[in-house]
Amino acid sequence: MTTASTPKTVAVVGCTHAGTFAAQSILTAHPDWTVHVFERNDTLSFLSCGIALWVGGHVSDPNRMFYSSPAALTELGAQMHMQHDVLSVDVAGKSLVARDLTSGEESTYVFDKLVVTTGSKPVTPPIPGLAEGLEDGRVMLCKNWDHGKAIKENAMQADSVAVIGAGYIGAELVEQFSEAGVRATLIDGLDRALAKNFDAPITEQVEAVYAEHGVELALGQMVTEFRLNESGTGVTVVTTAGEYDVDYAIMGAGFLPRTDLFEGQLETLPNGAIKTDEYMRAFPAGSTEASSDILAAGDSCTVLYNPTGTYDYIPLATNAVRQALLVAANIEEPMQKYMGTQATSAVQLYDLSLAASGLTQAGAEARDVNTRSTTIVQDYRPDFMLTTTPVTATLTWDPETHRVLGAQFLCRHDVAEAANAISIAIQARFTIDQLANVDLFFQPNFCQPVNFIGAVAMQAVAEQDAC
Ligand SMILES: Cc1cc2nc3c(=O)[nH]c(=O)nc-3n(C[C@H](O)[C@H](O)[C@H](O)COP(=O)(O)OP(=O)(O)OC[C@H]3O[C@@H](n4cnc5c(N)ncnc54)[C@H](O)[C@@H]3O)c2cc1C
Repeated sequence: MTTASTPKTVAVVGCTHAGTFAAQSILTAHPDWTVHVFERNDTLSFLSCGIALWVGGHVSDPNRMFYSSPAALTELGAQMHMQHDVLSVDVAGKSLVARDLTSGEESTYVFDKLVVTTGSKPVTPPIPGLAEGLEDGRVMLCKNWDHGKAIKENAMQADSVAVIGAGYIGAELVEQFSEAGVRATLIDGLDRALAKNFDAPITEQVEAVYAEHGVELALGQMVTEFRLNESGTGVTVVTTAGEYDVDYAIMGAGFLPRTDLFEGQLETLPNGAIKTDEYMRAFPAGSTEASSDILAAGDSCTVLYNPTGTYDYIPLATNAVRQALLVAANIEEPMQKYMGTQATSAVQLYDLSLAASGLTQAGAEARDVNTRSTTIVQDYRPDFMLTTTPVTATLTWDPETHRVLGAQFLCRHDVAEAANAISIAIQARFTIDQLANVDLFFQPNFCQPVNFIGAVAMQAVAEQDAC
């Protein structure tokens, strides 16, 4: 019989962001515990958010895209099992089987507590020719260090590349290809670039900038086949609207939770994302009571999405890190509740700074949430300054309660921090009226007397009053 203060044996499965933060925080709080970390790669903590910048030549040293290492975690006291593939987990029986990928040896490990940080896998739909293309290397993925190296060494040196998926990852990659003189085609089934991240007043401006930089936009069309060239020098991407002959294609069509190990053992969303309670504790299959011995964090599990108040699947490093810290805080006993997320994000494309937090109008419609949107365009600072430039600001709000549910910004000046301000407003359940009246500074170097965040909120209030 163990007590709460008895040292525990913990198994952390997967070690990129969630696994690294969970392992180091658990060991810092409980230096006498035994923490086994299993990772199938030979590296950990790789910042894949830097891949596009790296392949485009904007990273000083790619080795600095890792913020931890097996040696650093070993020094903290972890039992590191790098290049170990966890083959099966018996959640109820508290044991797992892992294969050492260097020796082929399989071993069983027992644990008191399990931390699921297995993350996500790129979406690879059953499109004819995709498996062969991935095998051949003419079609690539963009998720980890090895993918980044392949893109930099091959696609970046090619004449032409097609990127499938016009979300953040695809959008950033085609920007870098076009800047490097590689002919780039961006393909997506939706009819706007960044359609899941921004609404039309912003995506129209992004698409215009892509056109200026020679990026071919192949939107509103689904990929139906990948056909490798007979000469082995390229791939034809066949879509519902045309064919694109390129040297390489890159799949950037989103991510799914990598949770096959736990199928039938833990409660999940239909897409496989592990459900947790507010203390990051998972639910054994069929149970409505969370287990204090099974915790999950990061891309393998759900997030509490504050704009809707529901559990959702939004894989972001920001969520992974914060959830992993909560795993460590709550692994002995429930101490600290998860605050949820607004999925705040930002991206730089050419000279455009784009940032968003919470729901877009399109995101609201997809989730069947009734919202209204207000858009303004105004110079970010007074025109008596030697330079200024317009910012497009869209606020999404609830017409019944007036609650702020989201906002998006685009400007040639860096306005990305505005999304963080909106994130706090959504978290604090601000109404548009409160956002219109909250104290925001004025100083001509930075903004107008009425800051564009307050200005879009005032416009929303005016529109509401006019209804
Ligand atoms: C190109 C790109 C750009 C991105 N940009 C941003 C950004 O700008 N901002 C942001 O917030 N997020 C960004 N993200 C998302 C972010 O990288 C992920 O949300 C984050 O990596 C999730 O971390 P994680 O530890 O939960 O999962 P993962 O990163 O998926 O790591 C899971 C780990 O588990 C290991 N694993 C899985 N199964 C097993 C097993 N059975 N045995 C052993 N090991 C296993 C895997 O090898 C992997 O190392 C980006 C992602 C990509 C791909």
